[in-house]
Amino acid sequence: MKDLVSFLQDKSQVKRENVTLEKKLEQLTLELSGLEEENKTLQQILSSSSDPILVTTTEGEITYANPAWEKITGYTFEEVKGKNPRFLKSNKTPALMYRKMWKTILKGKTFTSDEVINKKKNGYEYRIRSHIYPVRKNGNINYFVQQQHDITAVKEREELQKEFLSATAHELKTPITVLKLLTQSHLQKAKNKSYDSIKIGELELVDRELDRITLIINDLLDTSRLETGKQFMTLKRVDISEVVKQTVEKIRIYAKNHEFLVQNFPSQIFVQADPARIEQVLLNLLSNAVKYSPPEREILISGEIAKNQIIISVKDEGMGIPRTKQSLIFDKYYQLKTNSKVGFGLGLYISKEIIKRHKGKIWVTSKVGKGSIFSFSLPLTI
Ligand code: ADP
Repeated sequence: MKDLVSFLQDKSQVKRENVTLEKKLEQLTLELSGLEEENKTLQQILSSSSDPILVTTTEGEITYANPAWEKITGYTFEEVKGKNPRFLKSNKTPALMYRKMWKTILKGKTFTSDEVINKKKNGYEYRIRSHIYPVRKNGNINYFVQQQHDITAVKEREELQKEFLSATAHELKTPITVLKLLTQSHLQKAKNKSYDSIKIGELELVDRELDRITLIINDLLDTSRLETGKQFMTLKRVDISEVVKQTVEKIRIYAKNHEFLVQNFPSQIFVQADPARIEQVLLNLLSNAVKYSPPEREILISGEIAKNQIIISVKDEGMGIPRTKQSLIFDKYYQLKTNSKVGFGLGLYISKEIIKRHKGKIWVTSKVGKGSIFSFSLPLTI
């Protein structure tokens, strides 16, 4: 009797357990079909994206590629399924970029790449910038989703523009030199023969305008040299206080209406530098101080040693620069609409690049209506 009771009890227990299991199964099936639906929707989103998308496992095996990716590379998903995307490499992308990428995504962080140059199935190159998102499941990273952005056309257009600019600047250099020589010889003759002042004035104007064009051409050539990585400067040990002295003497000849004052500049300060390039930076800061401040105002040049560096500053009492624009003026071609008199917006960009190549920094502090102080630092050498 006791056995029968316990048997019945056990049976009802099994029945209860069966019901719970059935319920659980039902729930799981529901969840699974939900997941399938979700999966389908996700697949639809990915495949309709105009950006190429590639999904890989953490080992780098391709598990998904959308039609946009197939279009840009020329491969079908079936051809590349399970492969490592390294077969796309052109060897023109720096290895450091890939190292940074793996370091970041393996930590579970999103990575945004610089320009990556890959090879299509037909051997042609294409350029992308991509965002890689690690996807986690139960706390572990399972997949990497790579959303790419095709920048081939943009880059090609940029390169064409650079080549065009550089070729035009080169072509202009010779005729401008000839015009400059002719103008100066005519000017000399006009002065010797005491021509009327109108004629002399006109020739002087042509001479000044030619100088202006020469400066713009040189800026364009420098910009192109900087961007193509061509030999731009040679460093040697120089006494920077001498470079400063000579540069200020030069600007005094050109800008007779302003007063230049060298204040507290220490002597015998040695740095590793290209003296011609540092002179270029200083001349640019000084001529900006002249351009953007009224005549007869003082322009102060000073030097200060701080933390194994020399900090050279040019202070003017000009119109100043609004705070919101102060970081923008070092960008290529940037000019403040209100106060650009002469120039092309390249001077500060080139100066920033020169100082960067000397392992220094350049910055500005300024107040509208009061004036600006442009400073740059250079590491000292023994
Ligand atoms: P550019 O002088 O040829 O326009 P720069 O790159 O040298 O080009 O300067 C960029 C812009 O920064 C200038 O157009 C001007 O608006 C502003 N700027 C530069 N120096 C000064 C200064 N000392 N005072 C006021 N504005 C300045």
